Amino acid sequence: MEDTTKFQGLRRQLKVQLREKGIYTESVLEAIGAVPRHFFMDPGLINFAYEDQAYPIAANQTISQPYTVAFQTELLEVLPKHKILEIGTGSGYQTAVLLHLGAHVYTVERQQELYKKSKLLFSKLRLFPKKMVFGDGYKGWVENAPYDRILVTAGAPEVPKSLLQQLKIGGKLVIPIGDKEQQMIRYTRTAEKVFDKESFGTFRFVPLLENKN
Ligand code: SAH
Repeated sequence: MEDTTKFQGLRRQLKVQLREKGIYTESVLEAIGAVPRHFFMDPGLINFAYEDQAYPIAANQTISQPYTVAFQTELLEVLPKHKILEIGTGSGYQTAVLLHLGAHVYTVERQQELYKKSKLLFSKLRLFPKKMVFGDGYKGWVENAPYDRILVTAGAPEVPKSLLQQLKIGGKLVIPIGDKEQQMIRYTRTAEKVFDKESFGTFRFVPLLENKN
């Protein structure tokens, strides 16, 4: 797997597009320009890697649209060394963007095929999340809680209480909420029992599935 000047050029164009669509955080745009999205795509689709669209990956899931990745990352207000819990590793692309921003990432995936694939890919790319978990992210990952930031990359019918509980005071949770389509919601824990809630428009995600066992 290699990066090429052609792909680098396409990434620069993608950055320009995302800026035009309203992404303004320079560190986020820089990360989109730096992380080779084609490494995270199905081999047959790499020529589409820098289109601003979601594409199928294994296990009937999708790699999120670059605009959505940038938008969620922007809402998360990531700083270097932030301890971040990501629910829905999927292809690993969003994880790589968070790592590029200098975050310490804990990431959870419930599809074993995707968990295994992304684990192998991270080691090939020498990317080092603090922890990869194969399991149900609905419950969060209490072993390493609390987190500065939590990011959910699948649509949840409602906000899982455990995720709110695993935020630090001052921490933020970005999560798409809804059934067929989702509102992008950001919770900020302003005190032990106080959560500020903001809404940022409509998106479409694959569903966050709760393990019933
Ligand atoms: N950030 C990923 C998004 C993948 S789509 C990317 O850009 O590639 C959302 C992912 O969430 C899917 O891989 C899906 O399997 C996963 N997912 C859904 N419900 C989950 C749950 N309860 N726990 C962990 N992962 C979940």
